[in-house]
Amino acid sequence: MSKQYKRVLTIAGSDPSGGAGIQADIKTISACGCYAMSAITAVVDENTFEVKGVHPVPATFVRGQIESVLSDIGADAVKIGMLHSSELIMAVKEALAPYNIRNIVLDPVMVATAGNDLLKQEAVRTLQHELIPLTRIITPNIPEAEVLSGQKIGSKEDMLAVIKSLSCNNTISVLLKAGHLSDNELTDIFYNAETREILELKALRIASQNTHGTGCTLSSALASFLAHGFSLDESVRKAKEYMTQAILHGADYGIGKGHGPVHHF
Ligand code: PLP
Repeated sequence: MSKQYKRVLTIAGSDPSGGAGIQADIKTISACGCYAMSAITAVVDENTFEVKGVHPVPATFVRGQIESVLSDIGADAVKIGMLHSSELIMAVKEALAPYNIRNIVLDPVMVATAGNDLLKQEAVRTLQHELIPLTRIITPNIPEAEVLSGQKIGSKEDMLAVIKSLSCNNTISVLLKAGHLSDNELTDIFYNAETREILELKALRIASQNTHGTGCTLSSALASFLAHGFSLDESVRKAKEYMTQAILHGADYGIGKGHGPVHHF
């Protein structure tokens, strides 16, 4: 692979409707100018309004996919999405271990907007104790952060307290997304563990029903900008801007009967 073409591996679930999961990740990584690779953890039977079933890929086969691409092509960044079970989390951890990849972005995917569990309850602690400590940054939304921390979030003070508890003694950066709060002005809070700084990222809520896969899109854009060599602060800002534009440009789409996809450039 030439030095100019940055490589991003996404480890995530497949969404046949093309709006979330691996499909959103590949579109985003490509739009952000990187070379996209994918290791599939689960095949999800879903569309824009319901999740009908989850078919996990055997753990040894997930591990195999990761080893195959990393031993051959390598990666400048890895984005991790849906992991489904403790067994899959451990397989991903073991497969990544020999490669010492710094740019690991983890989107702790748990529940789809359609309401179904994409991560089993039994896997929450494994995710927290086994995988999060290996990442550079995690990107939970409010419900995910509540599950991971065991704390309710209703205010900015709560967000700051939860970030502290998720940052593994201030070593892991956390972008806590405010989209699930009811305010019209949304303030994501970003803790940068490398500079020890807290940044508030304000944005106006965009009226759109097409928000399927926004979390996948943001974390993939973030992994892509880190792969390009931008700092954490710059990568977070650029990824947020990519996602804002993706929601704005996708707002008028009439794809599917439920929450349709965002636009990819
Ligand atoms: N389906 C898959 C395979 C995913 O990885 C994700 C990721 O968050 C979702 C669905 C979630 O979709 P939504 O953005 O509609 O909650």
